[in-house]
Amino acid sequence: MKYNRILLKLSGEALAGEQGHGISAEVLDTIAGEVKELQVMGVEIAIVIGGGNIHRGVAGATKGMDRTTSDHMGMLATIINSLALQDSLERHGIDTRVLTAIDMQEIAEPYIRRRAVRHLEKKRVVIFAAGTGNPYFTTDTAAALRANEIDAQVIMKATKVDGIYNKDPMKFKDAVKIDKLKFMDVLNQGLAVMDSTAISLSMDNEIDILVFNMFEKGNIKRAVLGDNIGTIVTN
Ligand code: UDP
Repeated sequence: MKYNRILLKLSGEALAGEQGHGISAEVLDTIAGEVKELQVMGVEIAIVIGGGNIHRGVAGATKGMDRTTSDHMGMLATIINSLALQDSLERHGIDTRVLTAIDMQEIAEPYIRRRAVRHLEKKRVVIFAAGTGNPYFTTDTAAALRANEIDAQVIMKATKVDGIYNKDPMKFKDAVKIDKLKFMDVLNQGLAVMDSTAISLSMDNEIDILVFNMFEKGNIKRAVLGDNIGTIVTN
């Protein structure tokens, strides 16, 4: 295996599936099935999940809400998604722990790094909820932060397209997929891989980001085995 410990970043929007909002039971089931394949291989899996299918801080602020309050709502949305994913993973027989960056002890454990690492060593899937716990950040940045804290070898960013293209593949038929990219190119060209804080954090701490299509069956397994799928962003 190329990677033994990974951090998987899922956007909230991915959970919405075709319906475009809320949580799709079908999508959760697909994700759990893919995660199960990795778990039986012995891969240690941490997951950071977004909240964009329910609430985004910026969207609330644009409509006049206080930004911090709106971000608090966004972080709560990630907890809702995390619990939904935990439920789905456990129905697939995968021991899962949700660790929240904002205390919510009746429903999940608080985030404690050493505890997270211990769960991973015991092959439990760990879901990091509530982002970084701070407003003005995103779950992409939370993914980069937690990946560093737990010594993950790679951040696997799940998308609907199979990597980074030179132009939008949904709009242009002649768009070409890029296999390898440098962090600096992503920053200079303003490529929409992850936000710039997440990219800088990953660049400074030398943790690669693999952008790949999670919704093609078996892709995540192939990625962990080192097959050339998606786009890898490195230093
Ligand atoms: N958020 C935050 N701090 C964090 C992570 C997230 O305030 O550390 C809030 C922010 O309002 C964000 C929302 O939670 O818009 C949902 O996260 P994100 O937009 O990253 O979700 P995704 O785009 O991955 O669905």
